[in-house]
Amino acid sequence: MAYDPNNIFARILRGEIPNKTVYEDEHALAFHDINPQTPTHVLVIPKGAYVSFADFSAKASDAEIVGFVRAVGKVARDLGAEEPGYRILANNGADARQEVPHLHVHVFAGTDLGRMIK
Ligand code: C5P
Repeated sequence: MAYDPNNIFARILRGEIPNKTVYEDEHALAFHDINPQTPTHVLVIPKGAYVSFADFSAKASDAEIVGFVRAVGKVARDLGAEEPGYRILANNGADARQEVPHLHVHVFAGTDLGRMIK
């Protein structure tokens, strides 16, 4: 899938659409999901233009990949989710029902997550 520079997360990164930011650095932005599925539901996105995890892992620099992974972990820690736990998940492509074609990792926390997968 080609990257659409006008997808909603690209517009959030450009500051065209407001968001409830929880963390931002050179490589990543984290914000509360607009339609939370759990008491805490945060999305972490890389700042680069990548559609999926496979796209990101193939094209991003090592610094972007390390920065993004560190950001996901920092968000989980800062949310206080290390204990009792959290789930990270990324939907990729049509079969996974990916809605926004800019890589994003969901961080779910704040409840017993059971076997829910999104
Ligand atoms: O993984 P998937 O692509 O299905 O998830 C997209 C997520 O982006 C949804 O959970 C949706 O609520 C969220 N979203 C958002 N802010 C928007 C548009 C979508 O948090 N403006």
